[in-house]
Amino acid sequence: MGVIRFHVHILRIIRGRVRFFLLLMLSANAFGAGLHRYAQLVVSDSSATPRNGIRVTYLGTNGYQFEFKNHVLLVDPYFSRVDLLSVALGARIQPDSSRIADSMRHVAPKVDGILVTHGHFDHLLDVPIVMSKTHARLIASRTSIDLAKRAGALSGDAVTAGDVRRIGPWKIRVVTASHDRLFGKVPFDRPPSRGGPPQRAADWICGEPLAFLIEISGQRVYIDSGGTPAQLPPKEHVDLAILGMALPDSRARLTAALERLQPHYILPSHQDNFFLPLSEGFQFGPLTDFQRVQRDCARQNRGRLILLDHFRPWTLPAAANPKQRSKS
Ligand SMILES: [Zn+2]
Repeated sequence: MGVIRFHVHILRIIRGRVRFFLLLMLSANAFGAGLHRYAQLVVSDSSATPRNGIRVTYLGTNGYQFEFKNHVLLVDPYFSRVDLLSVALGARIQPDSSRIADSMRHVAPKVDGILVTHGHFDHLLDVPIVMSKTHARLIASRTSIDLAKRAGALSGDAVTAGDVRRIGPWKIRVVTASHDRLFGKVPFDRPPSRGGPPQRAADWICGEPLAFLIEISGQRVYIDSGGTPAQLPPKEHVDLAILGMALPDSRARLTAALERLQPHYILPSHQDNFFLPLSEGFQFGPLTDFQRVQRDCARQNRGRLILLDHFRPWTLPAAANPKQRSKS
């Protein structure tokens, strides 16, 4: 190795370590910051709630279960919650079967489909196991399908923006999306040099980020896992907008995204610290800024800002939709 290459190599290692410790410090600050400060925004069903709309259960990270009658869709189900140290040090990571089994108590035994927004481990790692337990079909980008198959999934439907899939009563439109940058670049976006099953966090590459417009029984839900101001959601009015808000890029596009979607309900997503096990409850992630999200939503006054706690279902009210939407 030449002297210059050696120095570049050392610099990279140091830079990596600095970032890593920065993240650790930030996570330490965030400990203890749960949802209780925002209790007035947290919604969930009571015994009196009419069950005539889509029932939404938050599964942590960017994971959701959508239920309508006996039909079920999942988005980005991730229960293993690999720790930060394993990710930062590039250790081998794998699904945690006992954590998956614990969480699956909140998931329907039979699922129509699993939609995945991109290939990162916090969206795709557990998908092959969840597929095998629920007999669901997988709808995701070509890259995500390839990763899932290398990790054991038996099938997968590779989609691109513009595709439409109908599964039972669900109509799913695939929408172009983008991924937030972390320290100036999309994390884990370089294809690994070797084939075989993905082993480290960096092997679970982003691929082509997707968003989904889910329609059922006159209700429409838009979901993404974040994005940059350069790639906004479509101009499609929705009842519920689930917008990834883990990092600064997605917050920078919030106002413009809401302008286009005009949602009745706004659910900021990907805000919990997904390096902690789900058993520790909802803690805001180190790089989130919910106060800013709240401020921007209040300023714009488009729709009602809500939060969901892990595994506490909430039914999207069915009354407030089709007529209002066609007027707006
Ligand atoms: Zn990601």
